Amino acid sequence: MSSLHQNRRQFLSKTGKAGIALATMPLISKLVPEQYLIDSAFKQQPLPYSYASLEPYIDAMTMEIHYSKHAATSAKNLAEACEAEKVNINNSSLTDVLKSISTYSTKMRNNAGGHYNHELFWQVMKPSPSTAPSGKLAEAIQKTFGSYADFQKAFGEAAKTRFGSGWAWLLVKKEGGLAISSTPNQDNPLMDVAEIQGTPLLGLDVWEHAYYLKYQNKRPDYINAWWNIVHWEFVENRYSAALSK
Ligand code: MN
Repeated sequence: MSSLHQNRRQFLSKTGKAGIALATMPLISKLVPEQYLIDSAFKQQPLPYSYASLEPYIDAMTMEIHYSKHAATSAKNLAEACEAEKVNINNSSLTDVLKSISTYSTKMRNNAGGHYNHELFWQVMKPSPSTAPSGKLAEAIQKTFGSYADFQKAFGEAAKTRFGSGWAWLLVKKEGGLAISSTPNQDNPLMDVAEIQGTPLLGLDVWEHAYYLKYQNKRPDYINAWWNIVHWEFVENRYSAALSK
């Protein structure tokens, strides 16, 4: 029996029935924000909208190939890596794997990252969202970057100048505060190998497979169009969850 269980048992035997609610409270309150943080299980989740519904900003064929081929392959390869490296997907946290990614194989790094990043990417987009952040996140963006327009400019710059394949991020740094970063390949800010580490709130896929059919070599046009489909309410919820962690 773990010491946690022993402590809880002792606590319960001392406090009786009234203690049950108290004893379970920390676990419950921990679970609530986690739904926004560990939003990607080890398996690919259903896309929350149709392939065509992000048109005209992202075309249906790009979405279909991206979700059903590229992202699905990451999920499949992640399952293989977990099997080979003895990660039990039924009682492990993908976030924990990412946080200690330097202790795993390159296959795990590429596919745990690839899977997490895409699962987050689908969720930070939505057809006809509100056009700008609000509340605490809007305040923090203003405080950190000057204005929403300044933030968009800096984020766009990170996305444009990521050489080759990778991602641009808005994150809450480990030490607190917002930051913009970009990572190569399928790396992300959760990884212990990332230059700037923390909790990713918003991620933009700038691999060519994410935009080439519609935008070809014009990555900046894809980035500018993408702001029209950013699901700010979801990003705000992740921000609140990251703060209460
Ligand atoms: Mn992708």
